Amino acid sequence: MTPEEVMALYEKYINPSATRLFRFMGLASVEAQAEGWTITDTEGTEFIDCLGGYGMFALGHKNPKVVEAVERELHAMPMCGKVLFNEPAARLAEKLAAITPGELQYNFFCNSGAEAVEGCLKIARLATGRKKIVAARNAFHGKTLGALTATGRDLYRDPFKPLLEGFSHVPFGDSAALEKAVDEATAAVILEPIQGEGGIIVPPAGYLKQAEEIAHRKGALLIADEVQTGIGRTGTWFGANHDGATPDLMAVAKALGGGVMPVGSVVGTPQAWAGLIEAPFLHTSTFGGGQMACAAGLATLQVIEEENLLQRSAETGAYFKKGLEAIAEEFPQVITEVRGRGMMLGLYLVKEGAGGMLMALMINRHIIVAYTLNNPRVIRIEPPLIMPASVVDHVLEELRASVREVAAVINDL
Ligand code: PLP
Repeated sequence: MTPEEVMALYEKYINPSATRLFRFMGLASVEAQAEGWTITDTEGTEFIDCLGGYGMFALGHKNPKVVEAVERELHAMPMCGKVLFNEPAARLAEKLAAITPGELQYNFFCNSGAEAVEGCLKIARLATGRKKIVAARNAFHGKTLGALTATGRDLYRDPFKPLLEGFSHVPFGDSAALEKAVDEATAAVILEPIQGEGGIIVPPAGYLKQAEEIAHRKGALLIADEVQTGIGRTGTWFGANHDGATPDLMAVAKALGGGVMPVGSVVGTPQAWAGLIEAPFLHTSTFGGGQMACAAGLATLQVIEEENLLQRSAETGAYFKKGLEAIAEEFPQVITEVRGRGMMLGLYLVKEGAGGMLMALMINRHIIVAYTLNNPRVIRIEPPLIMPASVVDHVLEELRASVREVAAVINDL
């Protein structure tokens, strides 16, 4: 099929307005192949992937060890029969218990970030017998009804009201506000260690640890939504590691599948899991915990260890950030701030219109970046953790040229 034919089908059978928007932004290509940090379209044009599938491609595209692990299961038994035990699920659960902080031990496998968040919310209510959930303004936890209720952006929430009862939102990074909002009826506080879709917002140091302390003092649980920050994105296994926080429940997804399979998990402490241990069928999933998915997860964690990707994420991220800061210094009329940690970086722009234009200019230069869902003023940069410094240099050079073009018209945007 030609790209035009594919887009015509998208327009007719998927969504006409989304198709037109993507075309307008210069995204009129059909992806055909991908490897490492490169996506190649059907016309043979190569794009450098600095978006990383919203944080899914920590290992880049088509990591051979993950592909091999998945292929092995594909030819043995790809999906679980749901009655007998399966080894990849057992081994991935053991590995996640080993790398997650504190007492996190038990796993419930699912297929997406939103599903992992749903699991956390239900398990927290079950464990505490309480209903209230405190989340942060501007948070993004996914778009299924429970996760959406925790999400802190009205644009996505309002059309679907009434949402779930008992949720409230406090300013992110403000522990005094948390102290006021959490009470004896609170089941859990749910936070991202760094707000991703909210605009790559790093909270003050110690915030997550303070949230843990406040929650525990009032008999509530701390849920860390590590769907985007987890699995090496910020230079450590999990975003919570930076604060030394030990959540009671953790939502993991995106990068866990190594960019090859959709895999998510709710990881919880024995205390948080007590209700599910008593009644294990209160929360189930047909696809969750399949052999291919779990083998992908296990291979991903092994590759991260073998290739020292946590350190690479921290080092390359720091290098990238320095380069971005130099561009921001050169063009203060376009970029207000560079923020983030590890390979989870954001450019905070002076106005919304600059985000769309910068994204389009970068795509014209065959580099994929995008703005964050809750904040179109922030261009997020979340490349594969394996990206070498030479490619980072090239991206920075093209970014500088694009920002220069934005600067020339910034007053008209
Ligand atoms: N939680 C966080 C922090 C996310 O960034 C996202 C997606 O961007 C989700 C949850 C939802 O994940 P999914 O799109 O896999 O449902």
